Amino acid sequence: MKLFDVYPLYDVTPVSAKGMIVTDEKGQEYLDFYGGHAVISIGHSHPHYTQRLKEQVDQIGFYSNAVQNPLQAQLATKLGKLSNCENYNLFLCNSGAEANENALKIASFKTKKSKVIAFKNGFHGRTSAAVAATDNKKINAPINKQQKVAFLPLNDLAAFQKEIQKGDACAVILEAIQGVGGLDEPTTNFYQSVALLCKAWKVILIADEVQSGFGRSGKFFAFQHHGIQPDIISIAKGMGNGFPVGGVLIHEHIEASYGMLGTTFGGNHLACVATLAVLEVLEQENLIENAANLGAYFTEKAKDLPQVKKIKGRGLMLGLEFDFKVTDLRKKLIYKHHLFTGGAKDPYVLRILPALNIQKNQLDLFFNTLKTALR
Ligand code: PMP
Repeated sequence: MKLFDVYPLYDVTPVSAKGMIVTDEKGQEYLDFYGGHAVISIGHSHPHYTQRLKEQVDQIGFYSNAVQNPLQAQLATKLGKLSNCENYNLFLCNSGAEANENALKIASFKTKKSKVIAFKNGFHGRTSAAVAATDNKKINAPINKQQKVAFLPLNDLAAFQKEIQKGDACAVILEAIQGVGGLDEPTTNFYQSVALLCKAWKVILIADEVQSGFGRSGKFFAFQHHGIQPDIISIAKGMGNGFPVGGVLIHEHIEASYGMLGTTFGGNHLACVATLAVLEVLEQENLIENAANLGAYFTEKAKDLPQVKKIKGRGLMLGLEFDFKVTDLRKKLIYKHHLFTGGAKDPYVLRILPALNIQKNQLDLFFNTLKTALR
């Protein structure tokens, strides 16, 4: 059997990784400024994280989702405190797409409506309803034909007002920083107006924090830069530092009922321990503060590069916009300079998503390497 070939892959085969460094089968080291799409939050193979997972593997040799798992409550308590979201309840699942799928399902149940309002260049994953909430028709045609989606331009309040006034939407889903799209952001005024209009029209506001959450933006959640409170927050990626885990935080004004949502693997012991370990390291090593500080440092240093047309993003969710397409630059950075970076739907944007415990000297190294590659 062959693999179903849906991704172009770089010809690099990592065999080990530590902190910011990934080593391939030939012993070549790479500096990782991408972390597998913002998945690596506390660095590769963080000793506290691997220790916690090893202990859990030794302890648990069974699996059942029909009995108590106290780790879930521990995780909910810790996550509530660290994110300052104690007035939300947690449902655990396995990925970002699944998190958004569940969020849209809840919105539909709650409002008895099905239309979703999403924004151009947003990305929310690849399963039925969540797939529908993306405008990239070429790779993500909607599967669920009933789920109508209105794709609006970001920051166009008049267009948003016109759409929500139709009264048929169950949810608005948006990223506070567009990851896959290329780092565009809603303005504070736009996000706050969207939140107010959602309240007025009883539409569920879903903050997709799958990529921007868990400290990456310099606050626990990126929507917290705008002083709003969503009804549902979807999480994944950096949450497990590479272990597959996702979840939705559901505001307590939405009541749970038996059968509303379900999952076989969501909230399993290893996923809980991986997430707890990430939260412990974020707290012990002040990584959210580090993300904010080093994001500011990055932005200052990027101003010295004349080729950069625009510096985008916040914290360590960053993008550099050039006046040329970055595909060849990324190839050069990997194969010649041994440095991983990311691309975006916007072909002119180079994405930088390092682990949140990155040090200043590693950012200096990044800029020296980028300067050489640009020469
Ligand atoms: N939402 C956002 C904002 C994302 O960036 C992604 C993944 N790129 C997803 C949802 C989907 O997550 P997953 O790949 O874990 O299904």
